[in-house]
Amino acid sequence: MHRFRITELNEGAFQLRGQERDHLVRVLRLRPGQELLGFDNSGREWLARVEKIDEDCVTCSILAVREPQVEARLQAYLVIGLTKGEKMEWVIQKGTELGMAGLLPLRAGRSVLRLEGKKAAERTERWRKIAVEAAKQSRRVIEPTIAPVSHWQEIKRLLPEETQCLIAYEGETSRRLLAVMEELDPVKPVAVIIGPEGGFEEAEVAWAEQSLKALPVSLGSRILRAETAALAALTLVLGYGGDLG
Ligand code: SAM
Repeated sequence: MHRFRITELNEGAFQLRGQERDHLVRVLRLRPGQELLGFDNSGREWLARVEKIDEDCVTCSILAVREPQVEARLQAYLVIGLTKGEKMEWVIQKGTELGMAGLLPLRAGRSVLRLEGKKAAERTERWRKIAVEAAKQSRRVIEPTIAPVSHWQEIKRLLPEETQCLIAYEGETSRRLLAVMEELDPVKPVAVIIGPEGGFEEAEVAWAEQSLKALPVSLGSRILRAETAALAALTLVLGYGGDLG
């Protein structure tokens, strides 16, 4: 059944506007009487029927509400150094399917991709759309948050309070991510910081250790591409938390 992001929720009904309305009318060509699912990022989902199609809005009447247990209990975040090409898109799409709670694109020292001002805002908007689509496709009821492109100093403010940070660093040879998970508080969010193609500068790792209390971790003895490292780390964290596999 088709799923839509609710624009406005009222007693017994909801509205879809903008892109969601257009998708329903123009692409899927749903008609009054047909059933669909709506979600509003609260963790709930509504079975509903299309009642009325207007120029700017579709009104749906609610038939049933439910709270599917699809969201990961452990909130896992990725902080990833800006990478070139479609890698960020790929990580956002796959990370959303895997169950990440959010992603923060980082202006790392060796990031080849430089995004500033309007360009950065436009790209963030595009990444958010990818997250919404992937959330719908994977039947999630809460979309991951995609933070604006940020500097190191902004990470703390943009992650939930008490987030436990790990920094994936190939220079760390003894401390493995899975071993570190055993030392963390199982109910507090976890963020894994991943470097860009060229990796982190040593000073960045030192800064993260000091300012974010981030623990450097190894992902194994092979060097992974940034996007592989991001998804491998996310899979390990969510798998450890019992939310995958
Ligand atoms: N500069 C590195 C090199 O050429 O040796 C490669 C950096 S790697 C492509 C990009 C990022 O993925 C790293 O900054 C790190 O965060 C993560 N990464 C890749 N392999 C890793 C590993 N085995 N252990 C920990 N982190 C890893």
